[in-house]
Amino acid sequence: MVMSKSYPVAKIDLAALKHNLKQVKQLTPSSRVMSVIKANAYGHGIIHTAQALADSDAFAVARLSEGIKLREAGVQHDIVLLEGVLTVEDLQTAAEFSLSLVFHNQLQIDFLSQAQISKPLTFCWLMVETGMNRLGFPVDKVDKALQDLTQSKKLSNPVGLMSHFANADSVDDLRNQQQLEKLERCADKRNIPISMANSGAILSFAASNYDWVRPGLMLYGVSPFENQSASDIGLKPVMKLTSVLTAIQDLQAGDQVGYGGDWIASQATAVGIVSIGYGDGYSRQLSNVGKVVVNDKIVAVLGRVSMDMIAIDLSDIDKASVGNEVLLWGSDILPIEDIAQQAKTIPYELLCQVSERVKRDYQHG
Ligand SMILES: *Cc1c(COP(=O)(O)O)cnc(C)c1O
Repeated sequence: MVMSKSYPVAKIDLAALKHNLKQVKQLTPSSRVMSVIKANAYGHGIIHTAQALADSDAFAVARLSEGIKLREAGVQHDIVLLEGVLTVEDLQTAAEFSLSLVFHNQLQIDFLSQAQISKPLTFCWLMVETGMNRLGFPVDKVDKALQDLTQSKKLSNPVGLMSHFANADSVDDLRNQQQLEKLERCADKRNIPISMANSGAILSFAASNYDWVRPGLMLYGVSPFENQSASDIGLKPVMKLTSVLTAIQDLQAGDQVGYGGDWIASQATAVGIVSIGYGDGYSRQLSNVGKVVVNDKIVAVLGRVSMDMIAIDLSDIDKASVGNEVLLWGSDILPIEDIAQQAKTIPYELLCQVSERVKRDYQHG
Protein backbone atom coordinates (compact mmCIF):
# COMPACT_ATOMS: atom_id res chain seq x y z
CA MET A 1 0.00 0.00 0.00
CA VAL A 2 1.27 3.45 -0.95
CA MET A 3 -0.31 5.34 1.90
CA SER A 4 2.61 6.85 3.74
CA LYS A 5 1.59 10.31 2.51
CA SER A 6 -1.43 12.12 3.83
CA TYR A 7 -4.31 12.58 1.44
CA PRO A 8 -6.08 14.41 -0.17
CA VAL A 9 -3.37 16.54 -1.73
CA ALA A 10 -3.68 19.58 -3.97
CA LYS A 11 -0.51 19.53 -6.06
CA ILE A 12 0.42 23.08 -6.97
CA ASP A 13 2.63 23.51 -10.02
CA LEU A 14 4.59 26.71 -9.36
CA ALA A 15 6.19 26.63 -12.82
CA ALA A 16 2.69 26.67 -14.33
CA LEU A 17 1.86 29.74 -12.23
CA LYS A 18 4.93 31.50 -13.61
CA HIS A 19 4.07 30.43 -17.13
CA ASN A 20 0.57 31.85 -16.82
CA LEU A 21 1.91 35.18 -15.54
CA LYS A 22 4.19 35.30 -18.60
CA GLN A 23 1.14 34.72 -20.78
CA VAL A 24 -0.59 37.68 -19.13
CA LYS A 25 2.44 39.85 -19.78
CA GLN A 26 2.65 38.78 -23.40
CA LEU A 27 -1.01 39.61 -23.91
CA THR A 28 -0.71 43.00 -22.20
CA PRO A 29 2.76 44.34 -23.11
CA SER A 30 1.97 47.95 -22.31
CA SER A 31 0.14 47.32 -19.03
CA ARG A 32 1.37 46.55 -15.60
CA VAL A 33 0.09 43.47 -13.80
CA MET A 34 -1.71 43.46 -10.46
CA SER A 35 -2.00 39.74 -9.72
CA VAL A 36 -5.18 38.91 -7.83
CA ILE A 37 -4.45 36.48 -4.99
CA LYS A 38 -7.53 36.94 -2.79
CA ALA A 39 -9.30 33.98 -1.15
CA ASN A 40 -6.02 32.22 -0.37
CA ALA A 41 -4.96 32.73 -4.01
CA TYR A 42 -8.11 31.00 -5.25
CA GLY A 43 -7.33 28.09 -2.93
CA HIS A 44 -3.72 27.69 -4.06
CA GLY A 45 -2.12 29.16 -0.92
CA ILE A 46 -1.56 32.91 -0.77
CA ILE A 47 2.08 32.98 0.37
CA HIS A 48 3.53 30.40 -1.99
CA THR A 49 1.52 31.92 -4.83
CA ALA A 50 2.76 35.44 -4.08
CA GLN A 51 6.33 34.15 -4.02
CA ALA A 52 5.92 32.32 -7.33
CA LEU A 53 4.34 35.40 -8.88
CA ALA A 54 7.05 37.77 -7.65
CA ASP A 55 7.38 39.14 -11.20
CA SER A 56 3.98 40.79 -10.76
CA ASP A 57 4.04 44.59 -10.52
CA ALA A 58 1.59 44.53 -7.59
CA PHE A 59 -0.85 42.23 -5.80
CA ALA A 60 -4.55 42.59 -5.07
CA VAL A 61 -6.51 40.92 -2.28
CA ALA A 62 -10.05 41.46 -1.06
CA ARG A 63 -9.53 42.12 2.64
CA LEU A 64 -7.25 43.60 5.25
CA SER A 65 -6.43 40.23 6.87
CA GLU A 66 -5.13 38.94 3.55
CA GLY A 67 -2.90 41.95 3.08
CA ILE A 68 -1.48 41.64 6.58
CA LYS A 69 -0.74 37.97 6.01
CA LEU A 70 1.30 38.86 2.92
CA ARG A 71 3.23 41.60 4.72
CA GLU A 72 3.97 39.28 7.65
CA ALA A 73 5.42 36.79 5.17
CA GLY A 74 7.73 39.51 3.91
CA VAL A 75 6.01 40.37 0.63
CA GLN A 76 7.12 43.87 -0.36
CA HIS A 77 5.05 44.57 -3.47
CA ASP A 78 2.27 47.12 -3.50
CA ILE A 79 -0.80 45.29 -2.16
CA VAL A 80 -4.24 46.67 -2.98
CA LEU A 81 -7.27 45.90 -0.78
CA LEU A 82 -10.01 45.66 -3.39
CA GLU A 83 -12.81 46.08 -0.83
CA GLY A 84 -11.13 48.98 0.90
CA VAL A 85 -11.78 49.28 4.65
CA LEU A 86 -14.88 49.34 6.86
CA THR A 87 -13.65 51.45 9.78
CA VAL A 88 -11.17 54.20 10.62
CA GLU A 89 -9.20 51.72 12.70
CA ASP A 90 -8.87 49.40 9.74
CA LEU A 91 -7.66 52.28 7.62
CA GLN A 92 -5.00 53.01 10.22
CA THR A 93 -3.98 49.34 10.28
CA ALA A 94 -3.80 49.30 6.49
CA ALA A 95 -1.50 52.32 6.60
CA GLU A 96 0.65 50.72 9.25
CA PHE A 97 1.18 47.70 6.97
CA SER A 98 1.68 49.90 3.88
CA LEU A 99 -1.39 48.44 2.20
CA SER A 100 -3.13 50.35 -0.59
CA LEU A 101 -6.84 51.04 -0.63
CA VAL A 102 -9.68 51.13 -3.08
CA PHE A 103 -12.22 53.80 -2.10
CA HIS A 104 -15.81 52.85 -2.91
CA ASN A 105 -17.88 55.41 -1.12
CA GLN A 106 -17.83 58.74 0.67
CA LEU A 107 -17.70 57.06 4.07
CA GLN A 108 -14.31 55.59 3.25
CA ILE A 109 -13.07 59.00 2.15
CA ASP A 110 -14.33 60.46 5.42
CA PHE A 111 -12.32 57.84 7.34
CA LEU A 112 -9.27 59.32 5.70
CA SER A 113 -9.75 62.71 7.31
CA GLN A 114 -10.42 61.11 10.71
CA ALA A 115 -7.50 58.70 10.59
CA GLN A 116 -4.26 59.27 12.42
CA ILE A 117 -1.53 57.81 10.30
CA SER A 118 2.18 58.42 10.34
CA LYS A 119 2.85 57.97 6.64
CA PRO A 120 0.57 58.60 3.67
CA LEU A 121 -1.20 55.75 1.90
CA THR A 122 0.25 55.02 -1.52
CA PHE A 123 -1.01 53.48 -4.78
CA CYS A 124 -4.69 54.06 -4.00
CA TRP A 125 -7.68 53.73 -6.31
CA LEU A 126 -11.15 55.12 -6.72
CA MET A 127 -13.77 52.53 -7.69
CA VAL A 128 -16.18 53.76 -10.33
CA GLU A 129 -19.62 52.19 -10.69
CA THR A 130 -19.98 51.39 -14.40
CA GLY A 131 -22.58 48.63 -14.51
CA MET A 132 -21.95 46.02 -11.86
CA ASN A 133 -23.99 47.93 -9.26
CA ARG A 134 -22.00 46.42 -6.49
CA LEU A 135 -19.38 48.88 -5.29
CA GLY A 136 -18.16 52.26 -6.42
CA PHE A 137 -18.93 55.91 -7.04
CA PRO A 138 -21.52 56.70 -9.68
CA VAL A 139 -19.98 58.54 -12.63
CA ASP A 140 -21.39 61.93 -11.59
CA LYS A 141 -19.79 61.69 -8.14
CA VAL A 142 -16.32 60.83 -9.39
CA ASP A 143 -15.08 64.42 -9.85
CA LYS A 144 -15.79 65.38 -6.28
CA ALA A 145 -14.41 62.14 -4.84
CA LEU A 146 -11.20 62.45 -6.84
CA GLN A 147 -10.86 66.03 -5.69
CA ASP A 148 -11.22 64.98 -2.05
CA LEU A 149 -8.63 62.26 -2.47
CA THR A 150 -6.09 64.36 -4.35
CA GLN A 151 -6.37 67.11 -1.76
CA SER A 152 -5.87 64.80 1.19
CA LYS A 153 -2.40 64.87 2.64
CA LYS A 154 -2.95 61.35 3.91
CA LEU A 155 -2.39 59.71 0.59
CA SER A 156 0.14 60.22 -2.14
CA ASN A 157 -0.90 60.82 -5.71
CA PRO A 158 -1.80 59.80 -8.27
CA VAL A 159 -5.01 58.03 -7.35
CA GLY A 160 -6.09 55.64 -10.11
CA LEU A 161 -9.54 54.91 -11.48
CA MET A 162 -10.74 51.34 -11.23
CA SER A 163 -13.86 49.51 -12.33
CA HIS A 164 -14.88 45.90 -12.82
CA PHE A 165 -16.67 44.10 -15.67
CA ALA A 166 -19.90 42.24 -14.99
CA ASN A 167 -19.73 40.21 -18.22
CA ALA A 168 -16.07 39.77 -19.12
CA ASP A 169 -16.56 36.01 -19.49
CA SER A 170 -18.98 36.66 -22.31
CA VAL A 171 -16.91 37.63 -25.34
CA ASP A 172 -18.42 40.38 -27.54
CA ASP A 173 -21.05 41.32 -24.95
CA LEU A 174 -21.93 44.94 -25.76
CA ARG A 175 -22.22 45.78 -22.09
CA ASN A 176 -18.45 45.41 -21.73
CA GLN A 177 -17.91 48.24 -24.21
CA GLN A 178 -20.51 50.36 -22.41
CA GLN A 179 -18.84 49.85 -19.05
CA LEU A 180 -15.45 50.74 -20.49
CA GLU A 181 -16.81 53.91 -22.09
CA LYS A 182 -18.17 55.05 -18.75
CA LEU A 183 -14.80 54.64 -17.12
CA GLU A 184 -13.05 56.35 -20.03
CA ARG A 185 -15.38 59.32 -19.70
CA CYS A 186 -14.42 59.69 -16.03
CA ALA A 187 -10.75 59.55 -16.88
CA ASP A 188 -11.12 62.03 -19.73
CA LYS A 189 -8.20 64.48 -19.90
CA ARG A 190 -6.87 63.43 -16.53
CA ASN A 191 -3.46 61.94 -16.50
CA ILE A 192 -4.18 59.14 -14.03
CA PRO A 193 -3.84 55.36 -14.12
CA ILE A 194 -6.81 53.26 -15.19
CA SER A 195 -7.49 49.63 -14.29
CA MET A 196 -10.41 47.62 -15.60
CA ALA A 197 -9.50 44.24 -17.09
CA ASN A 198 -9.79 40.92 -15.26
CA SER A 199 -8.93 37.57 -16.88
CA GLY A 200 -11.89 37.44 -19.27
CA ALA A 201 -11.17 40.95 -20.54
CA ILE A 202 -7.41 40.41 -20.80
CA LEU A 203 -8.11 37.42 -23.03
CA SER A 204 -10.84 38.89 -25.20
CA PHE A 205 -11.03 42.68 -24.93
CA ALA A 206 -7.58 44.20 -25.41
CA ALA A 207 -8.99 47.75 -25.54
CA SER A 208 -9.70 47.48 -21.83
CA ASN A 209 -6.15 46.68 -20.71
CA TYR A 210 -5.06 50.25 -20.01
CA ASP A 211 -2.40 50.91 -17.35
CA TRP A 212 -3.02 48.07 -14.92
CA VAL A 213 -4.62 44.68 -15.59
CA ARG A 214 -5.97 42.53 -12.74
CA PRO A 215 -5.75 38.84 -13.68
CA GLY A 216 -7.01 36.25 -11.22
CA LEU A 217 -8.42 33.03 -12.65
CA MET A 218 -6.10 32.84 -15.68
CA LEU A 219 -3.02 32.89 -13.43
CA TYR A 220 -4.25 29.60 -12.02
CA GLY A 221 -4.45 28.14 -15.51
CA VAL A 222 -8.21 28.11 -15.78
CA SER A 223 -10.29 29.39 -18.67
CA PRO A 224 -12.98 31.96 -17.89
CA PHE A 225 -14.85 30.98 -21.07
CA GLU A 226 -17.31 28.14 -21.49
CA ASN A 227 -16.26 27.27 -25.03
CA GLN A 228 -12.48 27.62 -24.77
CA SER A 229 -10.23 25.35 -22.75
CA ALA A 230 -7.19 26.52 -20.81
CA SER A 231 -4.83 25.04 -23.38
CA ASP A 232 -6.77 26.77 -26.20
CA ILE A 233 -5.73 30.06 -24.62
CA GLY A 234 -2.18 29.05 -23.72
CA LEU A 235 -2.67 28.48 -20.00
CA LYS A 236 -1.36 25.65 -17.84
CA PRO A 237 -3.55 24.36 -14.99
CA VAL A 238 -1.81 24.93 -11.67
CA MET A 239 -3.78 22.71 -9.27
CA LYS A 240 -4.20 18.96 -9.47
CA LEU A 241 -6.56 17.77 -6.75
CA THR A 242 -5.75 14.17 -5.84
CA SER A 243 -6.59 11.54 -3.29
CA VAL A 244 -6.41 7.76 -2.88
CA LEU A 245 -8.57 4.68 -2.99
CA THR A 246 -9.13 3.61 0.59
CA ALA A 247 -11.45 0.62 0.02
CA ILE A 248 -12.96 -1.50 -2.73
CA GLN A 249 -16.42 -3.03 -2.39
CA ASP A 250 -17.77 -5.82 -4.59
CA LEU A 251 -21.45 -5.08 -4.93
CA GLN A 252 -24.21 -7.37 -6.15
CA ALA A 253 -27.18 -6.30 -8.25
CA GLY A 254 -29.58 -4.43 -5.98
CA ASP A 255 -26.96 -3.21 -3.49
CA GLN A 256 -27.06 0.50 -2.78
CA VAL A 257 -24.24 3.00 -2.24
CA GLY A 258 -23.90 5.78 0.32
CA TYR A 259 -26.38 8.05 2.10
CA GLY A 260 -29.93 7.77 0.89
CA GLY A 261 -29.03 4.81 -1.30
CA ASP A 262 -29.10 7.18 -4.25
CA TRP A 263 -27.24 4.75 -6.47
CA ILE A 264 -28.24 1.10 -6.79
CA ALA A 265 -26.15 -1.50 -8.63
CA SER A 266 -27.96 -3.02 -11.62
CA GLN A 267 -25.30 -5.72 -11.88
CA ALA A 268 -22.24 -6.92 -9.98
CA THR A 269 -20.04 -3.81 -9.67
CA ALA A 270 -16.64 -3.03 -8.18
CA VAL A 271 -17.01 0.21 -6.25
CA GLY A 272 -14.01 2.21 -5.05
CA ILE A 273 -14.10 4.45 -2.00
CA VAL A 274 -11.96 7.58 -2.27
CA SER A 275 -10.84 9.76 0.59
CA ILE A 276 -12.34 13.08 -0.49
CA GLY A 277 -15.66 14.73 0.35
CA TYR A 278 -17.42 18.01 0.79
CA GLY A 279 -15.38 18.51 3.97
CA ASP A 280 -12.42 18.92 1.64
CA GLY A 281 -14.31 21.18 -0.73
CA TYR A 282 -15.32 18.45 -3.16
CA SER A 283 -18.77 19.74 -4.03
CA ARG A 284 -21.79 17.71 -2.98
CA GLN A 285 -23.29 18.86 -6.27
CA LEU A 286 -21.06 16.20 -7.85
CA SER A 287 -23.19 13.43 -6.33
CA ASN A 288 -24.00 10.94 -9.11
CA VAL A 289 -22.64 13.27 -11.83
CA GLY A 290 -18.95 13.80 -11.01
CA LYS A 291 -16.09 12.16 -12.88
CA VAL A 292 -12.66 11.21 -11.56
CA VAL A 293 -9.56 9.60 -13.07
CA VAL A 294 -8.11 6.28 -11.87
CA ASN A 295 -5.22 4.59 -13.70
CA ASP A 296 -5.60 7.08 -16.58
CA LYS A 297 -9.28 6.28 -17.09
CA ILE A 298 -12.28 8.50 -16.44
CA VAL A 299 -14.88 6.89 -14.18
CA ALA A 300 -18.11 8.02 -12.55
CA VAL A 301 -18.93 9.15 -9.03
CA LEU A 302 -21.66 6.86 -7.65
CA GLY A 303 -24.26 8.08 -5.18
CA ARG A 304 -23.95 11.03 -2.84
CA VAL A 305 -20.75 12.80 -1.94
CA SER A 306 -20.20 12.37 1.83
CA MET A 307 -18.21 14.67 4.08
CA ASP A 308 -15.03 12.61 3.89
CA MET A 309 -15.46 10.22 0.98
CA ILE A 310 -17.00 9.40 -2.36
CA ALA A 311 -17.77 6.15 -4.14
CA ILE A 312 -16.61 5.59 -7.73
CA ASP A 313 -17.25 2.98 -10.39
CA LEU A 314 -14.26 0.67 -10.86
CA SER A 315 -15.98 -1.72 -13.31
CA ASP A 316 -13.73 -0.69 -16.18
CA ILE A 317 -10.49 -0.49 -14.21
CA ASP A 318 -8.36 -3.59 -14.45
CA LYS A 319 -5.99 -3.48 -11.57
CA ALA A 320 -7.36 -1.03 -9.07
CA SER A 321 -6.06 -1.49 -5.57
CA VAL A 322 -6.29 0.31 -2.29
CA GLY A 323 -3.68 3.07 -2.24
CA ASN A 324 -4.02 3.95 -5.94
CA GLU A 325 -4.03 7.65 -6.64
CA VAL A 326 -7.29 9.21 -7.82
CA LEU A 327 -7.40 12.54 -9.66
CA LEU A 328 -10.39 14.76 -8.90
CA TRP A 329 -9.49 17.56 -11.33
CA GLY A 330 -6.64 19.38 -12.98
CA SER A 331 -5.38 17.44 -16.01
CA ASP A 332 -6.05 17.66 -19.73
CA ILE A 333 -8.41 14.70 -19.49
CA LEU A 334 -10.18 16.08 -16.44
CA PRO A 335 -10.05 19.88 -16.48
CA ILE A 336 -11.65 21.74 -13.60
CA GLU A 337 -13.78 23.62 -16.13
CA ASP A 338 -15.60 20.32 -16.90
CA ILE A 339 -16.00 19.44 -13.23
CA ALA A 340 -17.48 22.89 -12.59
CA GLN A 341 -20.07 22.28 -15.28
CA GLN A 342 -20.93 18.90 -13.77
CA ALA A 343 -21.35 20.63 -10.40
CA LYS A 344 -23.43 23.43 -11.98
CA THR A 345 -20.97 26.04 -10.76
CA ILE A 346 -17.85 27.87 -11.88
CA PRO A 347 -14.19 26.88 -11.44
CA TYR A 348 -13.69 29.90 -9.17
CA GLU A 349 -15.97 28.37 -6.54
CA LEU A 350 -14.47 24.88 -6.69
CA LEU A 351 -10.96 26.29 -6.26
CA CYS A 352 -11.87 28.58 -3.35
CA GLN A 353 -13.68 25.76 -1.58
CA VAL A 354 -10.67 23.47 -1.32
CA SER A 355 -10.49 23.36 2.45
CA GLU A 356 -7.64 23.63 4.91
CA ARG A 357 -7.73 19.90 5.48
CA VAL A 358 -6.35 19.37 1.98
CA LYS A 359 -2.57 19.44 2.02
CA ARG A 360 -0.98 21.73 -0.58
CA ASP A 361 2.07 20.14 -2.13
CA TYR A 362 4.20 22.75 -3.94
CA GLN A 363 6.09 21.46 -6.94
CA HIS A 364 8.78 23.39 -8.76
CA GLY A 365 8.04 22.36 -12.33
C1 LIG B 1 -11.49 38.96 -8.25
C2 LIG B 1 -11.26 40.23 -8.98
C3 LIG B 1 -10.46 40.27 -10.12
C4 LIG B 1 -9.90 39.02 -10.80
O1 LIG B 1 -10.90 38.45 -11.62
P1 LIG B 1 -10.65 37.15 -12.51
O2 LIG B 1 -11.91 36.96 -13.24
O3 LIG B 1 -10.37 36.04 -11.57
O4 LIG B 1 -9.48 37.43 -13.40
C5 LIG B 1 -10.21 41.51 -10.68
N1 LIG B 1 -10.74 42.64 -10.15
C6 LIG B 1 -11.54 42.63 -9.07
C7 LIG B 1 -12.10 43.91 -8.55
C8 LIG B 1 -11.84 41.42 -8.46
O5 LIG B 1 -12.66 41.41 -7.39
